[in-house]
Parts: sequence; C-alpha cells; structure tokens
Amino acid sequence: MKTVEDLEKELKSVDKEISKVDAEVSKWKNIQRELHEKKVSLKNSIDKLKTDTLASVDWAGTTYEWSQDVQNTLKNVFHIESFRPKQLGAINSTLSGQHAIVVMPTGAGKSLCYQLPALVKPGLTVVVSPLISLMEDQVRSLTNRCIPAKLITSTGSKEESSIALDILKDNESEIKLIYVTPERFAKSKRFMANLQKCYADGRLQRIAIDEVHCCSQWGHDFRPDYKYLGILSNMFPNVPILGLTATATASVLTDVQKILNIPGCLVIKSTFNRPNLFYKILEKPTSQEECVTILEKLLNGRYKGESGIIYTNSIKDSEDITKELRKRGLRVGCYHANLDASTRTQVHLKWHDKYYQAIVATVAFGMGIDKSDVRFVIHHTISKSMENYYQESGRAGRDGLRAECVTMYRMQDVFKVSTMVFSSSGGLEHLYGMVKYCLNGTQCRRLLIAEHFDETWGDADCNKMCDVCCHPVSNAKEVNLKPHCKTLAGIIQNADQQDVKLTAQKLLDAWFLKGPVNLRHKGKEPNFSRVLGEDVIAYLLVGNYLIEDFHYTAYSTISYIKVGPNMDAVDDDSFILNMPIRRYSHFELQAPPATDYKPAIITVKSEEGSKTKKPKIESLTVKSEEGSKTKKRKSSAIKESKPKIIKTVTIIDDSD
Ligand SMILES: [Zn+2]
Repeated sequence: MKTVEDLEKELKSVDKEISKVDAEVSKWKNIQRELHEKKVSLKNSIDKLKTDTLASVDWAGTTYEWSQDVQNTLKNVFHIESFRPKQLGAINSTLSGQHAIVVMPTGAGKSLCYQLPALVKPGLTVVVSPLISLMEDQVRSLTNRCIPAKLITSTGSKEESSIALDILKDNESEIKLIYVTPERFAKSKRFMANLQKCYADGRLQRIAIDEVHCCSQWGHDFRPDYKYLGILSNMFPNVPILGLTATATASVLTDVQKILNIPGCLVIKSTFNRPNLFYKILEKPTSQEECVTILEKLLNGRYKGESGIIYTNSIKDSEDITKELRKRGLRVGCYHANLDASTRTQVHLKWHDKYYQAIVATVAFGMGIDKSDVRFVIHHTISKSMENYYQESGRAGRDGLRAECVTMYRMQDVFKVSTMVFSSSGGLEHLYGMVKYCLNGTQCRRLLIAEHFDETWGDADCNKMCDVCCHPVSNAKEVNLKPHCKTLAGIIQNADQQDVKLTAQKLLDAWFLKGPVNLRHKGKEPNFSRVLGEDVIAYLLVGNYLIEDFHYTAYSTISYIKVGPNMDAVDDDSFILNMPIRRYSHFELQAPPATDYKPAIITVKSEEGSKTKKPKIESLTVKSEEGSKTKKRKSSAIKESKPKIIKTVTIIDDSD
C-alpha cells in the first residue's frame, strides 16, 4: 500500500510532467501562431504580386477589339475629345472582364469608367452608390445625353420602383445602367431575384461599386450595408466588378479586396493632386455674426457671380447661415438630411441653374455633386477628417479651371466636431489629422494632403496654389511650449483637486488669468495673444499632451480637457517642444482672385509615393520604357521639389 508521501512524490512528478507538456504546448502554439502569420503574409504577398502583375499590363492601349467603339462613344455620346489620366486603362480593364478597383480623386472622371463601357457592350451595368443625390444627378445627366438609365430608390413611388425592378428581367429593355443603393442587396429579395434572372439571361454586364472604401471598417466612412456586396463575386462569376473610390489608403484597399472577395485584383490609382484648387485657411471669428459678414463679403466680392458650396457641421448652422445670408440679399439655398427628398432636389436644381449662388450644406449629409463649375468650397466648420475634407473640397473646380477651397478655422470648432465623432472608431484620430492641417502655417498644404494618400508632392506641384506657398515665411517663429505645458498641467491638476472639470475655453481663461480666481495659476499670463493660446491648446491636443474627456448631459456632449500621456515627459531635462507660430496670410475678401493660373501638367510623379511599387508607370507626358528602373530616377527628381524646412527660428521664451 502506498503511503501519503509516496503519492505526494508521484503527484510532484506528474506536476513536473504537466509543466513540461505545458511548455511544449506553448512552444507549439507559438509555432502555430507564427505559421498562421506567415500564411497571411504569404497570401498578402501573392495578392500583391497578382495586383502588381496586372498593373504592369498597359491597359491604356488602343488596339482592343472595342477600342474604336470606345473612342466613338467618347466623342459622339459624351462629347469629350480625350481621356483624362487612367480613365482609358480602367475602361479597357473592365471591358476585358477584369475585377478592378479604381482610385481617382473627386473630379478626375470616375463615373465615365463605368458609364462608357456600359454603352460599348450589350447588357446592363448595375451601379451601386450610397449617395442618392449623386445617383439622381448622374441619371439626369445620362438621360440628357439620351443614355437610357434608371434609378431604383425607396423615395420614389411604388410604381416607379416596380418599373425599375422589372427592367432587370426584361430582355427587351433598352436601359443600359441601373443605379441602386447597397441596401437593395441586403434587404430586397425581389431585387436580388430579378438580378439573378438578369445574370441567367446573360445580361448582367458589370457591377460598378462607387465609394467602394465604404466596405472597409478601417476607412473613414464605413457603411454596414456594403458588406453584403461580398457575395456578388461568388453569386455572379465572370461578371467583372469595378470598385471606385476617391479616397483609400493602401490598407483600406487591401481590406476592400478581401471583403469583395476579389483579392489580388487590378488596382488603378491616379494622383490625388488637384493642381487647379487653391487651398486656404482663414481665421474664423468667434461670433456667428462676424462669420456671416465674411461669407457675405466673399459671396459679393471675391466670388461674385460664381457658384459654390458652404459646408457647416450642423443642421441648425446651415439653416441659420442661410437665413442670415438671405437677409443680406444673397441668393443661397439650404441643404441637409432633414429636408424631404423633393425639397432637396429643388434646392439642387436651383443651384445647378445658378439661381442660387451657393448651397449651405451640412457635412454630415453625403452630397454627391455633378456640377463642374463650382468655383469655391468654403468650410464654415472643419471636416471630420482629411479624407472628408479632400472629398468635400474636391467638389470645386472639376472643369479644371481655378477654384478655391477656403476653410474657416477656430479652436472652438474642434470640440463641436469631436463631440460628434469621438465614439466612432478612429474618429478623434481622423479629426486631429484635419486639425493638424489647419494649424500648419509653414508647410505646403498639398504636402499635407499628399501624406494622407501615400503620395509625395512638393511645392513644385503646388505652383503657389496654397496660402502657405503663396506667402512663404522666411523667418518662422516658434514658441517654446515646455513652460506652458507645466503651467497648463498645473491648472488642470489644481482644478481636479477642487473637483472642477475644465473645457478648453475655461482652461484658456485660467491660463490667461481670466475667470474664477481659484482656477488661475500663480504665474504671469502668456505674452502672446489668446488666438495663439488657442493654437497651443489644439497643438497639445493633437500631440497627446492634452486629451479630451467626454461627458454626456441631457442635451449635449461636453468635451473637458485632461492631461494626456505625453505630458509625463515634460519634466525631463532633455524635453523640448517648440510649436511653429503660424500667421494667417492676407486674403482679399472683396475682390476676385488673380486669374493668371494655368493648370500645370503634372502626372509623372503620381505613383511615386504609393507604396505599391508598380512595374510600369503610365503617364501623360513621360512614357516609361525601363519599367521599374524609372522609379529611382524619379525619386531623385522629387527630392528637389520637396519644400524647404525653414531653419531660421526665433524662440519666444516665455518661462514664468
Ligand atoms: Zn503649397
């Protein structure tokens, strides 16, 4: 019989065995994890190689069996003489039956990439788009060109929608393009059944998916209904999918391909630079009254007789501003999501026909616009992200003529937007990207936009078409933020001890020795203006030295300011933080801008910064004969055009 001691000894040895096995298991688990990672990375490499191989084909050729038809349709139906960069490549690839994703900035002519092929081959092209207004515009302009197109919407009458749905199964129908929202694929059984019939009859020519970045949760504009589009490639094999977007980073593009089930598909990317757009940040007054005065001056002066858009961030703002501008005799229309469809269409038409000089629209409302002579886009409030900004401002100047994108910036608006976006994933990060753009006063605005699209542009690409390049600062000043960081952190901690939460305005008050005495600090007030103080707070926020802390009340969400994780480093002796001081450059409100601008032909560098190295680079002006070797040569050309970093610096030392 075994004794307790014997058994305990045995137990110990079993324990030992178990730990050995555990160690083995964890070793194998690690190996398994590594293998899985390797598998994913190999798959990605394969997909990337496939994409690169596809991209190395010269899709812009003119010897396809349909090439003559394509040229004829371009001239005789669309009345366009020549293609814009990348359009022909996209058209040929989709006519060849390739799945493709086309990344083209707003105004580069994305819609032609599916509208034209739709007319060249028999059958029906289904266009998926989330923006009803954009679809309405397109259908209207197609109909004007005698191109049979229909929109299936939930806003029209039942009869109308029924007629549109029947087109799908009607072999005799003349309709070439059908526009639908992604919800159709998710929610309408009848639509799907008719679409299957259309496919079975061999009439489904192509599925074009506009705003395709909405598939990806990594993007800035994820729409859940888009995920249903993943079934299409399996459900309709051999039907080419053509995804189109104006904004997508490399990671979003990979994600989109996965979701649509077309990994390794052809990606056609054109440059995002819009050389004809002038970018400007304008100091925004604190009162609405003064804001309206600026808008009035712009509309009556700088933009007299021109069409444009004024973006705001709330329905109330858009209504108030419209009212105020009308009081001052201006013809403007108001446009937001709460208006019914017919009112929206009317406003749209009046603007189209130039009865309204400008539309005051909310940024929340996705407003797709098919008007080429928009001469100005004014952001009364900053956008939610650089992607949004690029899209919204990009509605200007689609005709290639000079147009202006003016953003009115003030710190207070950061919180107007942050309280709206903080709960969405990446919302604050995206917003802070926009804030950084506004705070910048020393780097070309194009350079900052380019960074968002994995491209490299320099001030040579800008051609003095931004406020920074127009008024280069030869002697940029900086402010040493170290002592201010300490003061601000002290104010917040002191308030915290008294159980008081500080909004950015209250923090500014205490810093500038205004407001309740118990919240103020003991030092001197900063020796610069409150406007610069606002810049400092915003600068510290986007740098994570300060963070926002959101609290709900019954009526609104409030942003309070707390000390952020990067503030810890401030006590280190080696800590240095200097903020370049920007000055708002002069901007003539009451006279038209100089019109000596001639669009520069810049196409060579378009793919330079793109992370996907493409074997062959297509361009308007330079044909690359050496394949990938040209990349190096072009890199050095780009370096020369990078903006000069200003070296002369004066530090305002304001230690108190
Ligand atoms: Zn510039």
